Amino acid sequence: MLIEEITMRGFEQGVKKTQTVLVPVGSVEEHGNHLPLATDTLQVYELAKRVAETAKVLVAPPIYYGVLRSTRDHPGSVGISAETLRVLIRDIVHSLYRQGLRRFIIISGHGGSMHVAALREVGELLLKELDGIALAVLSILDLVTEEVFQWIETRNDAHAGEVETSVMKFIKPDLVQGTSKAEFPSFPEPILVGNPKKYWPGGVWGDPSKGNEEKGRRLIEHGVAKVCDLIREIEAYPDSIS
Ligand SMILES: [Zn+2]
Repeated sequence: MLIEEITMRGFEQGVKKTQTVLVPVGSVEEHGNHLPLATDTLQVYELAKRVAETAKVLVAPPIYYGVLRSTRDHPGSVGISAETLRVLIRDIVHSLYRQGLRRFIIISGHGGSMHVAALREVGELLLKELDGIALAVLSILDLVTEEVFQWIETRNDAHAGEVETSVMKFIKPDLVQGTSKAEFPSFPEPILVGNPKKYWPGGVWGDPSKGNEEKGRRLIEHGVAKVCDLIREIEAYPDSIS
């Protein structure tokens, strides 16, 4: 059940069937020259919609914006602060809680470390604030588990490479514009850089030329199965109320 499509009555009926809600979070950031700026949001929302076709779960409208670090200066990247993201998630979860929901899966299409850390931090806060909830925080990178590498060729694929190009070729083929050059940037870690674009000019981390629609279909099917497993797990979690 997609919250953006159901009515007040539909929501009331939905909450009688499930107390679990997926909250998709994306980003608006460069994804090379071949993938759209909202790739992370489009991917995670599509995944959540497909989960809702299989599992009894509510899906909140996606949050389009996320916290950006190394892509922040590339053309079209529009980020928000970690503070704003934490406040936004906190308000939305509190509101969903007042509506009767008790199990929250905050799933991010963007895997940036500061972004995921902000989601985890607010998750910990919500656990203290709200009685009887169970909450999970994950990014779709967590769904790219070992078995996926039987058909995904790039081990250190991280951004706009084989994985994301495959998924977008499957879910939004009309938005994929050719390909971009393979790139494996090297940052001077642990030194933080003020000009990340200099170290990562093309904005790709991986090899987009290895992406195809069939790999995308398999990645989405794998992701849907993993999230359905997580829903079963969180619904059986002892701290949850029912
Ligand atoms: Zn991405």
